[in-house]
Amino acid sequence: MLDLFSSVILFCCFTCVIFTGLGLYYERREIARYAGERGKATFLCVRCDRIYSVDVERMVCSCPQCGWDNVRLKF
Ligand SMILES: [Zn+2]
Repeated sequence: MLDLFSSVILFCCFTCVIFTGLGLYYERREIARYAGERGKATFLCVRCDRIYSVDVERMVCSCPQCGWDNVRLKF
């Protein structure tokens, strides 16, 4: 049988482990969710106002709608 102090320590450790595990789980889930989006580059066509993105990191890309070469957007 555990005394009160040991029970409180055990409860605090258990709670800490649970919240740390949940934090790691949700952090990994968010990283996996946006992993594909991170490699994309976004462009705004100055000719037809279309916003598009490509998978490859490039500074200049042609618009898929009108073919105009646009510079990558910087945030
Ligand atoms: Zn365009």
